[in-house]
Amino acid sequence: MGKRILITGGAGFIGSHLSEKLLNEGNEVIVVDNFFTGRKKNIEHLLSNTNFELIRHDIIDELRIEVDQIYNMACPASPVHYQYNAISTVKTNVLGMINMLGLAKRTKSRILQASTSEVYGNPLEHPQKETYWGNVNTIGIRSCYDEGKRISETLCFDYHRQHQVDIRVIRIFNTYGPNMNPDDGRVVSNFIVQALKNQNITMFGDGSQTRSFCYVDDLVNGIVAMMNKEDFLGPVNLGNSDEFTVKALAEKIIELTNSKSKIEYRPLPSDDPLMRRPDLTLAQEKLNYKFNYPLVDGLKKTISYFEKEIK
Ligand code: NAD
Ligand code: UDP
Repeated sequence: MGKRILITGGAGFIGSHLSEKLLNEGNEVIVVDNFFTGRKKNIEHLLSNTNFELIRHDIIDELRIEVDQIYNMACPASPVHYQYNAISTVKTNVLGMINMLGLAKRTKSRILQASTSEVYGNPLEHPQKETYWGNVNTIGIRSCYDEGKRISETLCFDYHRQHQVDIRVIRIFNTYGPNMNPDDGRVVSNFIVQALKNQNITMFGDGSQTRSFCYVDDLVNGIVAMMNKEDFLGPVNLGNSDEFTVKALAEKIIELTNSKSKIEYRPLPSDDPLMRRPDLTLAQEKLNYKFNYPLVDGLKKTISYFEKEIK
């Protein structure tokens, strides 16, 4: 028997892939989204499925529905969008989180929180393990998101200790793939769209900062495994541990798209982490988590998505 599953932020990039997977596994899926960065287009093909329901709603406001599981994915993830209305980002992470934990408490459902590698800030430990407490600026331009996600983790664990809410917390590292908005503003989508249009590639800083990029299918498998794991609350890192400089990413994308684009250097935004790579030992031990897509394979799939998207 399938479950009735709520996915907040289900019209966004990751949420839309998750919706599809959980429907295919025979569940009922209810997507709640305020369409700030999400798009109906991402879930349009699911609308005719009788097991699928879409509700336009902002999780900052209370929600009363009956569900068995909650994936709390709602929150803009691109710096451009989470900084556009920083106060709203904080509200989503604090009030939205409280509302979703309250819903989980009332319905006795399990709730999974999509936290982030940003809780490690500009890390002084490399690669990052779950035991690392992070190096985060409380008052900078990224704080609405980084500190927002940190307090949402705190809320999860306090609701668990105080009200026995059944929580799961994952820390997602840079993930990319189809269904990203061409205007998303994150590095993989920006570089691919620029390369396909033969426009300059906007490199922030000298491009020596590193990230570890995960293809969305790998991540979604890890998310569902964590939701259904007994006796393990997390937090657990999920991603891909192959680390690249942003410059190497640009060069790879130019090569794969056969682009005439040139690199244009721009100032590095403040508090931009210089390096990031997940230690995935815990995910491997607890969830048998493995990533299957090397960067080039994931990029090829993402490039063919954007080729159709921006035609
Ligand atoms: P996204 O911006 O594509 O999706 C976020 C979705 O949440 C959108 O559909 C948006 O409209 C919706 N949303 C935002 N605020 C809302 C609110 N208050 N009420 C209802 N809906 C709201 O981003 P994504 O990459 O799919 O990220 C999904 C989640 O995963 C986010 O919580 C993000 O912080 C987390 N995450 C993502 C990454 C990544 O690399 N993609 C990394 C770390 C964490
Ligand atoms: N970046 C870049 N050009 C862009 C967008 C991003 O050089 O057009 C850089 C950004 O400064 C950061 C890295 O790429 O160092 C990853 O940025 P993204 O916004 O994708 O994610 P995050 O910084 O949150 O990891």
